[in-house]
Amino acid sequence: MTARPGRDGHTDWCGRDHRCGLGEHRSEEIVIDLPGRARAVLVRVRTATGREHAEVRVRVALASREVAARRQLVGLLGDLRHTVTRAAIAARPRPGR
Ligand SMILES: [Zn+2]
Repeated sequence: MTARPGRDGHTDWCGRDHRCGLGEHRSEEIVIDLPGRARAVLVRVRTATGREHAEVRVRVALASREVAARRQLVGLLGDLRHTVTRAAIAARPRPGR
C-alpha cells in the first residue's frame, strides 16, 4: 500500500466523500469495540502539509465507586502517556536520513 496520492488526488486509504476535506485526507474509522466496556476508534489523517497522523478516540467504562474510577483514570493516563511517548519516539527523524 502506498501513501502517495492517487490520480484523483486522494491517498489510496482515504475514505473520500464527507471524511475528506479542509485540506485533510481521512481514512474510514477503524473500530475496536468491547461492548459495554471499552471502545477505541482510529483514523489515519494526512494534513495539507503532507504530514500523516493517527487520530485515536478512546471510551472506557469507569467503576461506579469514585475511588475506583479515579484509580482507573490514573492507570489510563499512564497507559496513554506510554503509548504517546512510544509513538513520538518511533516518528522522530533518524540521523543520516
Ligand atoms: Zn481524500
